[in-house]
Amino acid sequence: MKTIICRHCDMVSKIPFISRKHVAKCSRCNSTVYKNTKFNPPAMLALCLTALFICYPAFILPLISLHMLKITEGTALIDGPLMFLHSDPIVAITVFFCAVVAPVLLLLSIAYSSLCIMINHYPIYLPKVFKLTRALIHWSMLDVYMLSILVSISKLLHYADLYVGIGFYFFVALLLVDMTIIANYSNDYYWKLFHQRNHEHHNQLKVNC
Ligand SMILES: [Zn+2]
Repeated sequence: MKTIICRHCDMVSKIPFISRKHVAKCSRCNSTVYKNTKFNPPAMLALCLTALFICYPAFILPLISLHMLKITEGTALIDGPLMFLHSDPIVAITVFFCAVVAPVLLLLSIAYSSLCIMINHYPIYLPKVFKLTRALIHWSMLDVYMLSILVSISKLLHYADLYVGIGFYFFVALLLVDMTIIANYSNDYYWKLFHQRNHEHHNQLKVNC
């Protein structure tokens, strides 16, 4: 019997059989313990590559432009942590990690895992990539950054003219694709596929020998 441990309350449950797009909840704390993703690895790879292409304009192009005293200045996502770098380096590094490094690493790790499963390539470090992906999900905070942008816009509107930059639209697109990936990515499903196909691969090798 295959079991699964709830990450919130450590309750051990039997892995249920559930159809696609459905989730299984913990009987003790009602957290999601298992989900059957509606996207297979090729679809996840396509979504991750799309998101990675959007990352560059979303991070580099101006999100908002501020017009005050006849001066207009645009601010891109990457400028946020750079502004804090000298005054508060810890904040700058944390913001840079959560808004840039973790989301990009997460997309790369899911893309790489999906590609490996697609082409039946199982390097020895693939389980480490799965573990890294699970950890990065908690550190990827594009949604929090978006919330902070919206709060800043609402506050600054009273003091200056604000213009939404082209980078803002790319950032919204990135956020939507990123949220779709995170909502549908199932670490357990990838582990299951890994064990299944790895087992089949070894059986095939035995037969060939
Ligand atoms: Zn639980």
